[in-house]
Amino acid sequence: MVGVCCAAEASFCVGAAGPIAMQLPTSIAVPEEVLEIARNLEEAGHQAWCVGGALRDALLGIPQSDFDLATSATPEEVQTLFRRTVPVGVRFGTVGVLDSRRRLHEVTTFRRDVTTDGRRAVVAYGASLEEDLARRDFTINAIAYHPIRHEWKDPHGGAIDIARRRIRAVGAPAERFREDYLRILRCARFAARLKFTVVQDTWQAAVAAAPGLTNLSAERVRDEWYKSLDTSESLERLAGLWQKIGAAAVWIPELRSPDERGAIDILQAARDREIPRDPVLLTALLCHQPAAVLTRLKASRAEINRAQSLQDAPVEPEGDDAVHVRRWLSKVDEISSDLMELWRLRHGEWPSWRSVVETIRSRGDAIRVKDLAISGEDLITLGVQPGPRLGEMLNGLLYQAIADPSLNNRETLLVLARELS
Ligand code: ATP
Ligand code: MG
Repeated sequence: MVGVCCAAEASFCVGAAGPIAMQLPTSIAVPEEVLEIARNLEEAGHQAWCVGGALRDALLGIPQSDFDLATSATPEEVQTLFRRTVPVGVRFGTVGVLDSRRRLHEVTTFRRDVTTDGRRAVVAYGASLEEDLARRDFTINAIAYHPIRHEWKDPHGGAIDIARRRIRAVGAPAERFREDYLRILRCARFAARLKFTVVQDTWQAAVAAAPGLTNLSAERVRDEWYKSLDTSESLERLAGLWQKIGAAAVWIPELRSPDERGAIDILQAARDREIPRDPVLLTALLCHQPAAVLTRLKASRAEINRAQSLQDAPVEPEGDDAVHVRRWLSKVDEISSDLMELWRLRHGEWPSWRSVVETIRSRGDAIRVKDLAISGEDLITLGVQPGPRLGEMLNGLLYQAIADPSLNNRETLLVLARELS
């Protein structure tokens, strides 16, 4: 999707070997709907530039449809100019513009930071494109492209850093991390997703600033953790980065150590791109006490409960014969698929007993009381008093049916029940 490299503009960086020119493509493919929004803005006398992650990805050859626009128009002007808009983040200058297919495109007014406190920034409009790019986090995210004039603005040398596959803060790194500690986590996310290295001064500043991560809200950290789990090329690398940068110590001390992670297996699975991008499952894979982690990150009650079940359940049957597998299923029924997936991620292959689980399920062997061919009502008819004893009897019958599924028919179970009563 990136056009042939016959430079329209070059950015330069002075390295040990002298200046290195990074050739930017003459043009890149921008979706027609985005182009349409840009034309409207420009025709109304405003500037409209493509910015952010889509450009970075386009330069890396990764297809992207989510092109964000930065504009000199104020949010109010954007809202007046387009018929259908959504105030996605008007306070921060972002208006969502809906195209004819009702897809949302983010249009953000050029901003400059007035004050920052490590958690949030007070922004001012009336800034230039250059000022807007200067407040962005990393050089690879601070490039602008004019979709109509095919002009590039890359004042911080982002294209060279993309070509060299490295992450570098825009401006003075220590200051930039202090302004917004989330950038430390974003740094780890991009490094794990793109397999980029972090340049030394940016890395050192991130490590030094990491104790400040306590200032962030749990919700922002959770969103970033989930996004990282969703996009990392290697979960092993992500976990390692969180530990080395000092983020794990602050927010996820339960993150497993490299020995415990079964590094090779997780890496292998990542390479196969077969990882289910399920944040609860992956948190359980990477952490001891995943429920404690998700509680700290203020995840939903349902997510915390699921993590708690995964943490409490026996990870595998005691043997891979049908009886042991049925016993295990009777304990873990609802999360058996999750547990098998975790086993696969830890070991790099499915467990040998997975086929036994499938056979048991397809045969419909009893693994829960409600699968039995008789019910509590039948036992009451036999004269058993409703109460705890009734439950115990049903569990006793299930225990026998698990050992021998041929017992799970009404006649046999009634005979066994009479013996038990
Ligand atoms: P992704 O592929 O995850 O969407 P992205 O680079 O587009 O990556 P976004 O979170 O969508 O990331 O943000 C869009 C752009 O806004 C970034 O490319 C960056 O220029 C800027 N940005 C986002 N968050 C921050 C931040 N905390 N500090 C500075 N700039 C930021
Ligand atoms: Mg984005």
